[in-house]
Amino acid sequence: MKTRDRLRIAMQKSGRLTEPALELLTRCGLTFRQSRDKLFCFGEGEPVDLLLVRDDDIPGLIAQGVCDLGIVGRNVLSEFQLTAGRELAPLSELRPLGFGRCRLSIAVPQELDYHGPQQLEGRRIATSYPGLLGEWLRTHAVNAGVVMLAGSVEIAPKLGTADAICDLVQSGGTLVANQLREAEVLLESEAVLAGPLTLPVDERGDMLELLLKRLDGVIQVRE
Ligand code: ATP
Ligand code: ZN
Repeated sequence: MKTRDRLRIAMQKSGRLTEPALELLTRCGLTFRQSRDKLFCFGEGEPVDLLLVRDDDIPGLIAQGVCDLGIVGRNVLSEFQLTAGRELAPLSELRPLGFGRCRLSIAVPQELDYHGPQQLEGRRIATSYPGLLGEWLRTHAVNAGVVMLAGSVEIAPKLGTADAICDLVQSGGTLVANQLREAEVLLESEAVLAGPLTLPVDERGDMLELLLKRLDGVIQVRE
C-alpha cells in the first residue's frame, strides 16, 4: 500500500458519537473543510484528515491500514478484537474519551426471578455482540444459544425468537418499554481512541504523538 504522509482518523458519520467526537478534535486544535460527499474531511491546519463512516467499520479500517486512528465505542472495538480474523493487525485502545457511555448488558423478561448466570443455561439470547456474549458465557460455563440480530434486539423476546437479550443499555428506558430488566453487565463502555498496537515511526507517528499529548491536555481539563 502507498504510504500516506497525512494522519487519517475514522469517526462515525452520523450517530451518537459524531458531535462529541468532532468537538473533541476541535478542542485539540484541528479544523476540517467539509467535503461535499461528506466521506472525507480535509484537515486545514494540521496534516490530519477525517473519514466519516459507520461505526462498525472503524476497527476494520484501522486494522487494514486505511486509517491510522478511530473514535469508536469500546463495545465495537472489543467485539472486533474478539471476532476479527487473525490475518488483520491487532488494535489497541489508546485513550478512553469520556463520552458515549453505556453498558453491554444481558436483560431478561421482567417476570423472571433472575438469580444468576446458570439460569441462562439452555436459553436463547439475542444479540449483535456474539463475540462479547460468547466470551461471557464461556467464563461463566453457561451453555446458551446465541441468536445473532443486527438491530432491534430488544423486541426478540416479545417475538418469541429469544428468551433474553444482550444489548447496549444507557438509561434503561428501552428495556422497561419492552418489559425487560437488566440482569448482568458484561462491559462498561464509552468512546475510545483506537489505533494500531504499534505506532508508525515516521511523520504520521510524530503527528499522532502530538495529537495524543493535546488529547491528554483536553481530557485533563474536563475531569
Ligand atoms: P452506525 O450507523 O454508525 O452503524 P449505530 O446505530 O450503530 O450507527 P449509534 O446508535 O449512533 O450507532 O451508537 C454509537 C455508539 O454509541 C454505540 O456503539 C455505543 O458505543 C454508544 N452508545 C451510547 N449509548 C448508547 C445507547 N443507549 N444505545 C446504543 N449505543 C449507545
Ligand atoms: Zn453501527
